[in-house]
Amino acid sequence: MSQERINKLRDLINYHNYRYYVLDDPEISDAQYDSLYKELEALEKNHPELITPDSPTQRVGGAVLSGFDTVVHSVPLLSLSNIFTLDELNAFDQRVKESVKGQVKYTAELKIDGLAISLTYRDSVLIRGATRGDGQIGEDITSNLRTIPSIPLRLREFVEGDLEVRGECYMDKNAFRELNEIQVEKGAKLFANPRNAAAGSLRQLDPKVTATRKLNVFMYALGYCDQSVSDSHHEVLQWFSKLGLRTNNQSRRFDSIEEVKEFINYWQDHRDELPYEIDGIVIKVDSRSVQELLGATAKSPRWAIAYKFPPTQKTTRVTDIIVQVGRTGAVTPLALLEPIFIAGSTVSRATLHNEDNIKNKDIQIGDTVVIQKAGDIIPEVVRSLPELRTGAEKIFEMPKSCPACNSQLVREQGEAAWRCISRSCPAQLKEGLVHFASRDALDIEGMGPAVIEQLVESGLVKNPADIFKLKKDELLKLERFGEKSATNLLANIKKAKSQSLSRLLTALGIRHVGVQTAQVLAQHFGSLEKLMQASQDELANIPDIGPTIAESIYDFFNNEENRSIIKELQVLGLNFYEDKQVIGEALKDKVFVVTGTLTSFSRKEAKEAIVSLGGKVTESVSRNTDYVVAGQKPGSKLDRASELGVTILDEDQFVAILSEGGYQR
Ligand code: NAD
Repeated sequence: MSQERINKLRDLINYHNYRYYVLDDPEISDAQYDSLYKELEALEKNHPELITPDSPTQRVGGAVLSGFDTVVHSVPLLSLSNIFTLDELNAFDQRVKESVKGQVKYTAELKIDGLAISLTYRDSVLIRGATRGDGQIGEDITSNLRTIPSIPLRLREFVEGDLEVRGECYMDKNAFRELNEIQVEKGAKLFANPRNAAAGSLRQLDPKVTATRKLNVFMYALGYCDQSVSDSHHEVLQWFSKLGLRTNNQSRRFDSIEEVKEFINYWQDHRDELPYEIDGIVIKVDSRSVQELLGATAKSPRWAIAYKFPPTQKTTRVTDIIVQVGRTGAVTPLALLEPIFIAGSTVSRATLHNEDNIKNKDIQIGDTVVIQKAGDIIPEVVRSLPELRTGAEKIFEMPKSCPACNSQLVREQGEAAWRCISRSCPAQLKEGLVHFASRDALDIEGMGPAVIEQLVESGLVKNPADIFKLKKDELLKLERFGEKSATNLLANIKKAKSQSLSRLLTALGIRHVGVQTAQVLAQHFGSLEKLMQASQDELANIPDIGPTIAESIYDFFNNEENRSIIKELQVLGLNFYEDKQVIGEALKDKVFVVTGTLTSFSRKEAKEAIVSLGGKVTESVSRNTDYVVAGQKPGSKLDRASELGVTILDEDQFVAILSEGGYQR
């Protein structure tokens, strides 16, 4: 029984870790996550024989995104153990005192809700910035971190050799609100909380995007220093400040745990006054030599602990429950609330997820309910307060037909959601188009929900292909469209035609195919044509694609309607190819010219192979050309190459160079 529950919890926690750390897109609140984690921790404590090294309780949760270089941390960046009560804090204090056989001083710091970064300075100059990753290996995000104004590129004082400092990169509440307003305008997905917004902004492959996001840092720990430094962590923080590193000025050093508790109580009541989010207080043993003595587990140091604040809860009234139809036809009930200010923003609606959730929590229209925002911005209805009912409340009935197209709703076995399965439902069409144009998909600026509503209502757009047939005079007839906005929108639509295949696949909204899976598919097949020809078995054999996803992809491409829209998209000139990723540097800066016909490669494939190993391909042979690849019936380029003494490769030699460099077809 325990083993079964442990396995279930591990799977669930791993899934939420992936959404949180890799996709920066959590599905559940931190409080919900923490309660799953605590349950697993407690079960493992009672059954230590069931602990495995890969359990989420034994490892730091992050991962490294492909596309970034990796950095091996010379001193691991660990997580922190979490506690939720003052009794647990007493126990921590006891453990520390027993281990060191004496009194200790503590530093208490605000626990900033962002993501950990590491900065390395050599002779006072910033040489590298990295994420925490899995604690041992992080992502090299130096170029992105260099765009953050509060990170000094050179320290104000000379520090000989290497200095590695750690801190939190975060987005303050105002910047977060502004960013989400922009997301709404663009019709893009909202960031769930400032932490995810900061992580998503920092882990951008293009530093120009990071530069537009208002990020900031607080540095809070020393990782490594060639020079000798004070034994007191608190004094090290003061030294950081002198060096020009930004530190948080609320950190305090205390002689006893009782004073730490007062600090915790104070910030629990005053956290809303800060311009940035905090989710708790970090308590650290101040002496660095005592820290070393106490050591660490694989996951967290024994000399520090994070006290997590309980999620902020408030009560308000449900004025109505409405339903919304999503792009997959799922019909979701939504509670309309008397507006209430909670944890930094006003909440007037909250999803109720599905019919069963409403029944289980016994929520009626008119009820007073407890709302919670667990350190993040997705509000949830925790429970109703039936004792406050007046008799005027109404029980919510899930509609039997779709509110948008009136067709019968269905609930499949094993599914929590009721669905509209009509192919012509306007609500699904609108949501599908919003997704199609969104930031992670074809990223069509100016095509947010309001514009899509107009386009669908006016009958101009009945499917995604219609977007690419829009004409200026048609747009000008719509309200709020002027010459400039129409021209801009058409230019953005044209630009979207050349987006990568992976974005197009995301845009198509195939069930179970999100950004990540779309990338896997695009990389694997290289072209939409090849993907469409793949059998269900072939799909299921691709790493990361299970049978359910394979079936869904297969069904999608074998649906007549989808095939005809895809055909139209092709005729309209959308890009159906994916450039292969750079996989090595074996041909770095080498210049190639390809001439004649190769038997095992098309021109495009040969070019992609060269580029994937860091090489360049040009059209004409010059003194700068390193290699000419000559297939059958080469043209005058071969003569020119011989004239200039450029190395000529036949197809076999070309293939040998590629495979030596690590290229695989
Ligand atoms: P953590 O956030 O609980 O604590 C460790 C982190 O605190 C450090 O890495 C550092 O980044 C940060 N920190 C902020 N201020 C600090 C300071 N002054 N000194 C030292 N560190 C400071 O641990 P974690 O491993 O980063 O994340 C685990 C937590 O993330 C969970 O408890 C949960 O709340 C959340 N989470 C949520 C989901 C979800 O689906 N909602 C999934 C995974 C994790």
